[in-house]
Amino acid sequence: MSTFRAPKGTFDLIPPDSAAFLRVREVMAQTVRLAGYQYVETPAFEDTTLFKRGVGESTDIVNKEMYTFTTQGGDSVTLRPEGTASVLRAVLQANLEKAGQLPVKLYYSGSYYRYERPQKGRYRHFSQVGAEALGAQDPQLDAELIILAVDAYRALGLKNVRLLLNTLGDATCRPVYRAALQDYLRALDLDEATRARIELNPLRVLDDKRAEVQAQLTDAPRIVDYLCEDCKAYHDEVRGLLTAAGVAFTDDPKLVRGLDYYTRTTFEFVHDGLGSQSAVGGGGRYDGLSELLGGPSLPSVGWALGVDRTVLAMEAEGVLERDVPRVDVFAVPLNDEARTLFFGVITELRRRGVSADTVFGGRGLKGAMKAADRSGARYALVAGERDLAENVVQLKDLASGEQSPVAVDQIIPTIKEKLS
Ligand code: AMP
Repeated sequence: MSTFRAPKGTFDLIPPDSAAFLRVREVMAQTVRLAGYQYVETPAFEDTTLFKRGVGESTDIVNKEMYTFTTQGGDSVTLRPEGTASVLRAVLQANLEKAGQLPVKLYYSGSYYRYERPQKGRYRHFSQVGAEALGAQDPQLDAELIILAVDAYRALGLKNVRLLLNTLGDATCRPVYRAALQDYLRALDLDEATRARIELNPLRVLDDKRAEVQAQLTDAPRIVDYLCEDCKAYHDEVRGLLTAAGVAFTDDPKLVRGLDYYTRTTFEFVHDGLGSQSAVGGGGRYDGLSELLGGPSLPSVGWALGVDRTVLAMEAEGVLERDVPRVDVFAVPLNDEARTLFFGVITELRRRGVSADTVFGGRGLKGAMKAADRSGARYALVAGERDLAENVVQLKDLASGEQSPVAVDQIIPTIKEKLS
């Protein structure tokens, strides 16, 4: 063991669990690719100002959680705490919004960094898959993204992910609601920091997790009662589309994203098996963000799903597959001639799409059979002097223990057939 450890709040993805993480990412990505979302990858760090503007100066992320440093060249850069600002920056930089059909549909998968207090499900280095549809305002698009996330969770075998849904109104109705909420909040018994938040970012007070705050919010004005006609119709349509697609949801008038450029649809996916860090994913519409970054009007919607917490949710539901076989076929040569033969055989198997491995470094029969078992392989190929004299190898089913000779020139077709 080395004296070095992974930094606090981080962990290594190592086998066998690393396979589950890869699978979660791949299932999420595959689900959105079915709807035409294309892969985008942006740098792990950006100009600090991008996140200050794109995430918002009044958020915890910007105030407390960013990994910000000055480069050798004197620039202030920040490790990305989330994906949306970077993706939008990349789209605007490449003029993608002018290049073709709108919306531009993109997805990403990568590492994100927040200097948070680590606990189960909350890390300083974590992993998200995100999807963004940029440049269209259409209830079907909001519904599409929500349905895709639901389908991704389902494809992973999760049954208990709940969807919370809300709308935040738009530039017409939100300011009226915001003022009404501020009036209500100013009359409450709240600490200094929360009072400051009322002036800066009143919607976020609704999100306060403390019981003594929540107790005072039961009669707080609700955005649904302030929606303009357009926002109301839009939200009703999103709800109708979800229902028609068989997606259950709970209306949650306290679900907010506290920044002004977030508009209309907002949603969160939660799982009750995770303790306090129950949000497995979330997203919403951000019609005002592009302008804030100096771009044209580009109404957009997106989500980010947390890979780490999705894996924890799968564990909680008992649907996390741990013992994923490393390979299907494992070759155990008993002499040098068999070693040469099998090296050719496993090369050919791999070229035909069958995963295969063998022993390296001259281990004895016992060690080789142990390695075959550990690999999780369905079949072992075993051959020694006597077999090769008869021009056969032994094909052993590692689950049943059954073994039968196979002619050397029939190894590949026999294995292909057995695995099909
Ligand atoms: P957010 O950008 O905060 O809406 O995060 C989207 C999703 O990413 C959340 O629902 C979580 O599943 C995940 N996530 C956010 N922060 C962390 C973290 N510090 N550790 C692990 N997962 C996180």
